[in-house]
Amino acid sequence: MSVLIVGSTALDSIKTPNAENPRLLGGSASHAAVAASFFGPVKLIGVVGDDFPKKYLELYRRHKIDLDGLQILPGKTFHWSGEYEANLNNRRTLLTELGVFETFTPTLPKAHQAVPFVLLANIAPALQLHVLDQMRQPKFVVADTMDLWLNIALVDLLRLLPRLDGFVLNDGEAYQLTKEDNMFAAVKKIHKLGPKYVIIKKGSHGSILSGPKGFFLCPAYPLSTVVDPTGAGDSFVGGMMGYLAAAKGSIDANLRRAMIYGSVTASFCCEGFGLTRTTAIKRADIDRRVKELEKLTKF
Ligand code: AMP
Repeated sequence: MSVLIVGSTALDSIKTPNAENPRLLGGSASHAAVAASFFGPVKLIGVVGDDFPKKYLELYRRHKIDLDGLQILPGKTFHWSGEYEANLNNRRTLLTELGVFETFTPTLPKAHQAVPFVLLANIAPALQLHVLDQMRQPKFVVADTMDLWLNIALVDLLRLLPRLDGFVLNDGEAYQLTKEDNMFAAVKKIHKLGPKYVIIKKGSHGSILSGPKGFFLCPAYPLSTVVDPTGAGDSFVGGMMGYLAAAKGSIDANLRRAMIYGSVTASFCCEGFGLTRTTAIKRADIDRRVKELEKLTKF
C-alpha cells in the first residue's frame, strides 16, 4: 500500500561545529518520503519555488517518489537554517522563510485521496488539517509537529489531535504540550487529547510508544559519529510509516517492528549532511542494522 506524505519540501542551510552546508535538499516531507521509499510507494504533497534545483527533483524521482502532488510555483522555496552546538543535540533555528508555503492550500489529485496510510509530517497544523480533510477513509493517520506550532498554532493542533491515529513528538514538545516532566504522565495526557498511539522521540536515546498494547521502548541504533542529525525525526516516522504500509497484518502486530525500521533509517540520516547519506544506502543496509539492533536488545 502507498503512503501519502505532506510536509515541508525545503532548502536547508545547516551549520555544525565542523562544517557549513548551504541550500541542501531538506524539509520534513523530503526526509520522510525518502525514508518511506525504501519500503514501498510514496506520494508526496508539497510545494517548491522556481529556485528549486532540478537535481533535487531528480533525487526524488530516483527514489520513485510520486511527484504529481508536488507543485512548482513562482517564488522562493521554503528555506530553513539551523546551527548545532558542539554536542549536536542542541540546535538553534537561525531562519525560517516559508516562501511559497505561505499560501499553499493544495487540492489533492483523486488518486491521492484514496491512499490508506497518511503521514502529516511537520508543517503548519492548518495545512495538515486541510490535507486530512480531503482524504477518503484513510486506514492509519499519523502526524508530527514541532515547538513552533505549539507556540503559534496550538488551537489548530488541538483540532487535529482527535482526528489522528498516531501522534509523534519529541520529549521537549511533550513537556511543552502537557507541562508534565514525567514522560509517562505526559503520554497519558496526550492520549486524552485524541490519539490512540503516542510516540515520544528522545533523540539518540530512542523513542517510546504508548498504545492499546501498552508501552514499547524502541532503541536508537548506536552511532559513534554523528555528522548532522537534521531530519532524523522525519526519517524515523517516514521509515516507520513506509514499513507499516508494506507489512501484512494489523497495525498493532507491526508497529513495534516498524519503529525499529524507522529508528535504523534515521541512524543513516545522522551520518551525513541533509539527505546525502540516506540517499546513498540500499534496503539491504537497513535490514543489516535491524538485525544488529535485534541482537543488541535481546535478553
Ligand atoms: P528534524 O531534524 O527532524 O526536526 O527536521 C528538520 C527538518 O524540518 C529540516 O529539513 C527543515 O527544513 C524542517 N523544518 C524546520 N522548520 C520547519 C517548520 N517550521 N515547518 C516545517 N518544517 C520545518
